[in-house]
Amino acid sequence: MKEELDKIDLSGLDIDQIGDDHMFSSIETPMRKDAFALSDDEKIARIETSFREIMETLGLDLNDDSLSGTPKRVAKMYVKELFSGLKPENKPDARVFDNKYQYGQMLVEKNIRVQSNCEHHFLPILGIAHVAYISSGKVIGLSKINRIVEYFGKRPQVQERLTLQIAEELKRVLNSEDVAVLIDTRHLCVAMRGVQDSSSSTVTTEYSGKFKDKNVRDEFLRYAYAGDPQNRF
Ligand SMILES: [Zn+2]
Repeated sequence: MKEELDKIDLSGLDIDQIGDDHMFSSIETPMRKDAFALSDDEKIARIETSFREIMETLGLDLNDDSLSGTPKRVAKMYVKELFSGLKPENKPDARVFDNKYQYGQMLVEKNIRVQSNCEHHFLPILGIAHVAYISSGKVIGLSKINRIVEYFGKRPQVQERLTLQIAEELKRVLNSEDVAVLIDTRHLCVAMRGVQDSSSSTVTTEYSGKFKDKNVRDEFLRYAYAGDPQNRF
């Protein structure tokens, strides 16, 4: 962690613009220092121009009714939807509450929809996440867990980093190390190109705190995969 910090050149950087999810570590999405210098509208305009060039280079006639709106449509989709999680202010406000009931067992939120895009090919990653935590005194609204998964999914990603970013954010919000994240997805860059394998899926996990214990982890996996016809675990 310290080494990572030393490598980052902070000169000329307005710390207030970075947002509090900037973790300054290897799990942070690599961003340019001027990442937030352009407004959304300016980004959309630039991407529209660039995407038009891509389409024209491919030989497409942008005068065609069906194609003429595509560059702008793609640009808006990138900035406002698919990659909106690059903007710290879009991070869900994950308020936590006191654990009034003194519930001390694990809570598992399973089958959370994962929609992301791989940063190597800009093709979709689709699947599910199972997330669990054991309260250290605070509890989080259930839908906020889904929102955290959604937020980090809306970035160009590699699945390993997505898994860790979700886990780190939960640890930060809950002020607890006792967090588990399992992500099981299909990568369209594997299904549609390269080896063109549409049946394989990719599983990544992050277990910290009490979930490093085999019994606790096994309990989590039993709940996560209960009723799963493929019963992979
Ligand atoms: Zn890929």
